[in-house]
Amino acid sequence: MIQPPPLNTAELQAMDRAHYLHPFTDHKALGAQGTRIIERAEGIWLWDSDGNRILDAMAGLWCVNVGYGRTELAEAAYRQMLELPYYNSFFQCANPPAVRLASAIADIAPAHMNRVFFAGSGSEANDTVLRMVRRYWDLKGQPQKKTVIGRINGYHGSTVAGASLGGMKPMHAQGDLPIPGIVHIPQPYWFGEGGEQSPEDFGIWAAQQLEAKILELGVDQVAAFIAEPIQGAGGVIVPPATYWPEVKRILDAYEILLVVDEVICGFGRTGEWFGSQYYDLTPDLMPIAKGMTSGYLPMGGVIVSDRVADTLIEEGGEFFHGYTYSGHPVAAAVGLENLRILRDERIVDYVRKDAAPYLQERIAGLIDHPLVGEVRGVGLLGALELVSDKTRRARFAGDGRAGGLCRDICVRNGLVMRAVGDTMIMSPPLIISRAEIDQLVELIWRCLDLTAAALKE
Ligand SMILES: *Cc1c(COP(=O)(O)O)cnc(C)c1O
Repeated sequence: MIQPPPLNTAELQAMDRAHYLHPFTDHKALGAQGTRIIERAEGIWLWDSDGNRILDAMAGLWCVNVGYGRTELAEAAYRQMLELPYYNSFFQCANPPAVRLASAIADIAPAHMNRVFFAGSGSEANDTVLRMVRRYWDLKGQPQKKTVIGRINGYHGSTVAGASLGGMKPMHAQGDLPIPGIVHIPQPYWFGEGGEQSPEDFGIWAAQQLEAKILELGVDQVAAFIAEPIQGAGGVIVPPATYWPEVKRILDAYEILLVVDEVICGFGRTGEWFGSQYYDLTPDLMPIAKGMTSGYLPMGGVIVSDRVADTLIEEGGEFFHGYTYSGHPVAAAVGLENLRILRDERIVDYVRKDAAPYLQERIAGLIDHPLVGEVRGVGLLGALELVSDKTRRARFAGDGRAGGLCRDICVRNGLVMRAVGDTMIMSPPLIISRAEIDQLVELIWRCLDLTAAALKE
């Protein structure tokens, strides 16, 4: 193998500026500033091209669940590439890793979910969701049942269907989204939108928006409700304890499908295999991606309940839907090895019994910082609300300047946290140790102090 000659940071940045259109990026601003080049990683740590070591409290983009530097995953990919680098699953074919991965996922999924449709990403998984939900109701003889209800500030990906199912206003504003047949209800975001109500009352109110929307549209028009167990990209929004039980009551009363988007919560993030198990939900479909391969290769999928799968299989004939890379053998081999690691190292148990209680206890202490108005989290997901006056839940001007400032200070001080407006969020690799959690919390304190000082200027 011939290695290309190494490039220094300035050379890489110049090439990047000239040729690389980045996702979710203001290119003019990035061009002026220069890209941060991440060169290597190990465990929970990243190194950039200037040699800085950075604690990755986001696990990449919520995905590197087993941590960086896992040679087993590299070897699984290498072996599979030599054996069979690609073959499709169309035309009555399959490959061993894809078959085994489907079976292994069915083993950890809720008991009524036994089949998997493979995709290349979370966005593709949600395109499949929209196709599958509509196909299901067609087969049930109710073709008018087409509308999907999502939530404002939910995130389901960036393709046309994914962005439409999601409720991100800035995404909708670019490209006339959502597409017809997708509507949104308010989110269960008490800190931001709960006003004078208690979290419990607000949770009931937010859930009842689903019932109100179903009645407004007519239940004969509504195909499904889609939601993340805990909103990730929206700002790690943990719903009030009353929310999911009330949603369940409503779903039991009306015949519509429940789609639980497990792209972040799946594969151990909450201390259960899936967020649906954490909240005791009974989904009809679960889109998955991210932690499915710990991000080592792109892969997504939809876990399908027996009710939906049996209808598609028994009554459906051919479903005209699929991707070239559905069930990609190398991605599947990595997914399978990733599941083996999660299982053999008892990582989900470690999150539930050890890492999550410890992280939540340690970050809860950050409420003593003058900038922090709320700390919340579940499993290895956490959020801090930056406020101008914590006694009144008073927020900074809604431009996200405080959050952006804090995020930049974090990176300069060796910590990746993400800012959603003025909400700082984290989602570290599941293998983070107690000692590393201590380091993380120390870094956060220091960066909050620096942010508070910078805001005073
Ligand atoms: C990231 C994400 C997606 C989209 O996944 P991609 O692989 O980026 O397409 C969908 N749903 C949720 C909940 C996500 O967090």
